[in-house]
Amino acid sequence: MPAVRVGLLGGTFDPPHLGHLLAATEVREALGLDAVRLVVANDPWQKSAERRVTPAGTRLRLCAAATAADPLLVVDDVEVRLGGVTWTARTLDHLHREHPEVEFVVVLGADAASRVPTWRDGGACLRRVPVAVVDRPGAGETDLPGLLGHATRVPVTQVDVSSTEVRRRAAEGRSIAYLVPDAVRSIVERERLYRRRS
Ligand code: ATP
Ligand code: MG
Repeated sequence: MPAVRVGLLGGTFDPPHLGHLLAATEVREALGLDAVRLVVANDPWQKSAERRVTPAGTRLRLCAAATAADPLLVVDDVEVRLGGVTWTARTLDHLHREHPEVEFVVVLGADAASRVPTWRDGGACLRRVPVAVVDRPGAGETDLPGLLGHATRVPVTQVDVSSTEVRRRAAEGRSIAYLVPDAVRSIVERERLYRRRS
């Protein structure tokens, strides 16, 4: 067994919410990981084609606020440092080179797992790493794509929260309390993120 095993939960985190944090924590506990890193996508090309994604620097700050009180959840800015469109194969290569002593476990929600075949490399980079898949409300009973045949399914508490729902509520001027950590809510409110321009 490698000395250090770390989970990687990649995402847009626009904004981070309790579903992310609880899933990350429960996977860490279930697999005995040393930590889980939230890997903030620089330019999630599949999303930025469809909507205006909040600047990466702001999403990094939101993730830092969300995890500040928890030393076992860490924000990873590697994709932002690398720049350009998000490309998991490149991220994994970079992290393996930066931290040769660490075994990284890729963590995917079931919706993300079913979309792996749409990645630029068809998800081939995941064949070489351990993968954990967590169920998510609304994702349905998904069969994992064949290339995730080696993935471990980890049962986690089902939290029906999405960043889309948080953005929708904020846009409508509704409360996002209890869906995101208070520190995230403070930034969203103070900076009027996700509010409709009038
Ligand atoms: P959006 O609605 O903008 O797509 P999201 O809530 O899906 O946002 P992402 O940043 O796209 O959040 O998700 C990052 C990762 O976290 C993905 O693997 C996703 O499946 C997982 N995830 C997000 N929300 C949950 C949840 N409530 N429970 C379990 N996994 C989740
Ligand atoms: Mg999503």
